[in-house]
Order: sequence, then structure tokens, then C-alpha cells
Amino acid sequence: MWLQRQETVTCIACGETLTRPDAREYDRYGDRWERREKTFEYLCKPCHRELCHQPRAGLEALLVEMEGESVPADQFVERYYEAVEEAADRTDGKRGGER
Ligand SMILES: [Zn+2]
Repeated sequence: MWLQRQETVTCIACGETLTRPDAREYDRYGDRWERREKTFEYLCKPCHRELCHQPRAGLEALLVEMEGESVPADQFVERYYEAVEEAADRTDGKRGGER
């Protein structure tokens, strides 16, 4: 099998196994420049494409706003998830309308 000669990775979104050159690197922290001592996660091309179509407007502004307030790390994470859930609710509403 030619597949065995290449490193394979698994898409974190759909579980598809694909060869690494076919995969798209995904860094959950959005930092693709620092590559030392870390492993990337991978997405297959269809999932990567879908991801790029997700509306992200406002997310950066939200994070900056949250960073401005100095809160303990655990609270920050809590607030982050709350904010993301709110954003997801709005997105779901929009997406439902398109179908
Ligand atoms: Zn996938």
C-alpha cells in the first residue's frame, strides 16, 4: 500500500484519514508561526473549506475586548466560552435561514 509509506493524519472534524500533504494544518490557537514543541491538528480539504466559510466577524473584536479586562485565567476561559456560544447561536440562526 502506497499509503503506508507516507505519514497519515486524521481530520479532526470528520475523522477522515488522509496523507499529510493532502491535509491542512489547523492550530486551535491560531498561531501557525510558532512550530516548536507542538503538534498541529489536521483538517481534510472539504472540512477546511467549510471552516473558512464560517462567519468570524466580531470574534477578534470580542477577544480584544475581553483581553482589555484583567480577569483570572479560569474566568477568562469561562467568559470566552459564553461569548462563543452566543456567537454560535447567532450563526445558527443565520445558517438556518439559508437552507
Ligand atoms: Zn474532514
